[in-house]
Parts: sequence; structure tokens; C-alpha cells
Amino acid sequence: MRQNATERSRRVNVRTPEVMERVQAEVEDHYRSPIVEKIRAKGGTITLGNTTIRLAKDFGFCYGVERAIDLAYAARKVFNDRKVYLLGEIIHNPEVNRQLTEMGVISIPLGRQEEDIAKLSRDDVVIVPAFGAETSLMNVIAERGCMVVDTTCGDVMSVWKRVRGYATQGITSIIHGKAVHEETRATASRALGDKGNGHYLIVLTLADVDFVCDYIRHGGDRAAFLERFKGAYSEGFDPDLHLKRVGVANQTTMLKSETEEVQRRVQVAVQDRDGAELAKQNYQVFDTICGATQERQDALFEMLKRPMDILLVVGGYNSSNTTHLVEIGEQQLPTFFIRNAECLRSLEQIVHFDLHAKGEKESYSTQLAGDGDIVVGITAGASCPNNLIEDTITRVFALRGIGTEALEAALASS
Ligand code: SF4
Repeated sequence: MRQNATERSRRVNVRTPEVMERVQAEVEDHYRSPIVEKIRAKGGTITLGNTTIRLAKDFGFCYGVERAIDLAYAARKVFNDRKVYLLGEIIHNPEVNRQLTEMGVISIPLGRQEEDIAKLSRDDVVIVPAFGAETSLMNVIAERGCMVVDTTCGDVMSVWKRVRGYATQGITSIIHGKAVHEETRATASRALGDKGNGHYLIVLTLADVDFVCDYIRHGGDRAAFLERFKGAYSEGFDPDLHLKRVGVANQTTMLKSETEEVQRRVQVAVQDRDGAELAKQNYQVFDTICGATQERQDALFEMLKRPMDILLVVGGYNSSNTTHLVEIGEQQLPTFFIRNAECLRSLEQIVHFDLHAKGEKESYSTQLAGDGDIVVGITAGASCPNNLIEDTITRVFALRGIGTEALEAALASS
């Protein structure tokens, strides 16, 4: 059997007990927050004076991110006499990537990775991020003979297994995700299958899905279809041929309710075209939203059942799962997507990412101002370290005239 690119790469194990002990200490030093841990231990809510901060039950680093960071730190320690490269970002959080850069890990930017990797040698180490990497990149790394520290999350790999299976059966993968996201690109490359003759189509919005469903039911203008999804389908993809048998998969960090709707709409379209019996062969599905993403979305829905004045979502602006938390929040209350505590410039001025304008901007906010009682909700995506949450908590209290000493005293007294 032909080996796939990941199997052919020269993987190295950096997880020795001695290394991991040192890694653990360093990771805790960089990202741990005793204040967050104490608030969580008290049930997730703290009130000081007229200000209440409520944390979501689940937020911050997931198991996949923790593992990726541990392995990247371990790689730097084990190979302290070599050049250690990283494909893009280890996760989508600027603070974590900054730490790795300071430790001497060299990020190879997206867009010129194959070109840069082609210059590496057997002495070099390449870290594959938590999202995984495209098979074409893994092939170049394997050809160069570089040592590979692969931090790809197991949940991402289980999606790969599923789309490879679709390819083996001649089923086209319809992937719900962002075509430019590293994870979706990596998954799409596996949807080609081990023989490279599989197909995929990436859809992002429900409008995309409706367009595809219409084509499944009635056919249509092939050229218009290909133009609309340019850059989001496999080479040689033909909607007249490759929508006959489809299997839905998704980027692990999508909004769960939306992914379920994608699955439902595609299934109904295939049933309308083929009838219920034949549709069982021509439509397949596998829910690949990861547990951590789901827990964070569920925790926010739970948190939103109680009244709050404002929601702060902390994380990297390019983090998919964090973006979906913002989408959930802003349907219900004023919600600000902030990179870190510095975005809270004053009680009135908040620098934040506007999902609709797709850019960072400064907004005037009335929610934190004044001296009345307020409840501030805080959550964060799977790539946000607790130290950034702590900074946000202390910043909110400081703006409301409550110092860190008072916060620590309140946490120590109960
Ligand atoms: S968000 Fe999910 S898929 Fe991504 S690293 Fe975390 S556990 Fe893995």
C-alpha cells in the first residue's frame, strides 16, 4: 500500500519525561493564571463593589492546543543546537506565537512554505501546527528529510480519516469550513485520497450550501458554479459529475448549529434528487465538530441564560472557534472581540475586531462606564491562554476603580 505524506515524514519523539517536566514548568510560567483558577474554583463569578465578572464554564486552552504547545516547547529544548521551523502559526493566538518566536522558533509564513521548505536539510526540524498541514507540504518536508515534530490534533486527524474514506469510495467531500484556513486546506488535501483522484468542495455560508443544493436538485450553469467556488474545489472537480455521491465533513471549529444545518440541507437535496432509498448510498455524514469547540459554545449558551451587560471574547482575530463565540454572543448582548486587555483603552473606548467589517476598530461603549452595578461576561476560544484572561479581569476591575490587591484579597478570603 502506498504510504501517505505524513507516514513518510521523519517524525521524531520529543516527549521524554525529563524534557516534559521542564516544558511543563515553562508553559505554566508563560500562560498559567492563579487568579483565573481561583475564580473558577469559586464557581466562575466574582463580585467586587459594583462590578461582577462572570466567566464561562469552559473557555481557553483545549487539549489539542495544550499538546501542540507542549510539543513545540519540547522541540525547542531537545534540538537546542539546530534550527527549528514552524509551519505558519502553532495555534491562532499572537501571544503564544510571540513566545515561540522569542524562543528562537522560526515561523515559515503561509504562501511561501513549499519554496522555503525546499531549502531545508536533514539537520533541520519542522514543527507541524495543531491544524496539520497539506499533503503537498508534508511531501516536500519528507523529500528534504527534515525531522518532523507533528502536533496535529487527533480530532483533526479523525476528520482526515473520514474524508480519505470518502475518496476511497468515490464520494466527494463537501467540507464546511473556510477555504483559506490551514486546517481546512489540510483536510481538503486528504480528501483527494491516497491515490490523489478524490474530490472536494468547500462551502462556508448557508448561501453557498443553498447554491450547491440547487445544483444537486436541478443542475445548472456549470461555469457559474465553478466561478462562484473558485479556489474552493479540487482540480478537475465537475459539479455535473462529482455531486452525485457526496459526504459532508467540517472544519472542527465551526459553529455547531450551522454545521448541522449544512448537513441537513445537503441531505434533503440528495433525497429530493434520488429518493430516500438511493440517498442512503449517495449521501454520507460524519459530525466532526471537536469536543472542545462544542463545550465552549455550549458553555457560552449556558452563560447567556443569565443577564449580563457586556461580553468580552478574548482571542486571536484569526481564530475560527473564537469567532463563532463572538457570533453567538452578539446575537444577545453588546459583545467585543478583543486581542488582549490593552484593547480596553478606557471605560468608554474598546479596540476590537468587527466580524462584519472584517477589521479592528475602536468603538465607544457605554456598558462599562458609570458607577452603577454591571455584570461583565468573559469567555475565550480554545487558543487563548489564561494569563490573557487574567489581564482582562484585572483591567476591567482597574477601570472600575478596583485594584488587583483587593481582587487577590477577596479571592484569598473565601
Ligand atoms: S479546537 Fe478542537 S480540533 Fe482544534 S486543537 Fe483544540 S481540540 Fe483539537
